[in-house]
Amino acid sequence: MHLPKQGCMPALLKIHHGCPANSLFDNFETSPTMPAFIILCLGVLLVLWFAGQPWWLERRRQALRQQPFPAAWRVILRQHVPLYQRLPADLQRQIRQQMQVFLAEKVFIGCQGLLVTDEMRVTVAAHACLLILNRPAGCYPNLRQILLYPGSFVVERDHTDHIGVAHRARQVLAGESWSQGQVVLSWQDTLEGAAVVDDGQNVAIHEFAHQLDQETGHANGAPRLTRRAQRQSWSAVLGTEFATLQARVTRGAPSLFCDYAATDPAEFFAVVSEVFFEQSSQMAQEHPDLYREFCQFYQLDPLNWS
Ligand SMILES: [Zn+2]
Repeated sequence: MHLPKQGCMPALLKIHHGCPANSLFDNFETSPTMPAFIILCLGVLLVLWFAGQPWWLERRRQALRQQPFPAAWRVILRQHVPLYQRLPADLQRQIRQQMQVFLAEKVFIGCQGLLVTDEMRVTVAAHACLLILNRPAGCYPNLRQILLYPGSFVVERDHTDHIGVAHRARQVLAGESWSQGQVVLSWQDTLEGAAVVDDGQNVAIHEFAHQLDQETGHANGAPRLTRRAQRQSWSAVLGTEFATLQARVTRGAPSLFCDYAATDPAEFFAVVSEVFFEQSSQMAQEHPDLYREFCQFYQLDPLNWS
């Protein structure tokens, strides 16, 4: 082993203390402050980086919004998104700008061998952006990926029944929304849901409504509302309407909302969102308080659209 000799250290110390201030050994004096200075610089850079993130993000989004909207995408909107045709001109311009950001930031993944085309991306993005047109929260900050299946898909879920017995169930789905930042859609169901504009069934709207609901955690029918009075009003009106729907379903009485909306508050919010955008006139007539709540939440009034 190569150990330092015991007698060396006092000699070195002696030399060091006896050196002039500008000698090479002065490094011993300044070196303790250098790491602190570097750490300070790195800390400042880190703070600047974090503080500048929203600014850079907004600058980048502003540039994306200013990009010319491709003519081919307009054709897709005309062909597959009849809801877009109903929007007034200012909202059409706004949705095109939102779509530029959405399509630049979100990743589309084809499942079961599906090749994702612009037709799919634009159609899905248009429905996603319809829901956030006037909302200040941004472009689905938690959403990262959209998984597309050619048609309905099968999932297997474990659940425990009321007496504690575990089961595995197979479900055939047209769409899903995950709180980890994914929306899953059947392309065929997305197309069919979009094609009929007034039947209150639109799986893309349904799943992106869940995604908005999940911005506060698990979907529970209580999406982010900034004002306390709005939260109280939302809770009171939706609570009453949900209980009324459940009673109607139990009696077998007809309703504007499908039975699935009575499953739980999260499904109620997603289904009512479909009806709000596609059957606004009936909803405003039959459920005026509920319609008003959704107008305030989405910051939109589809009754004014053509
Ligand atoms: Zn749902």
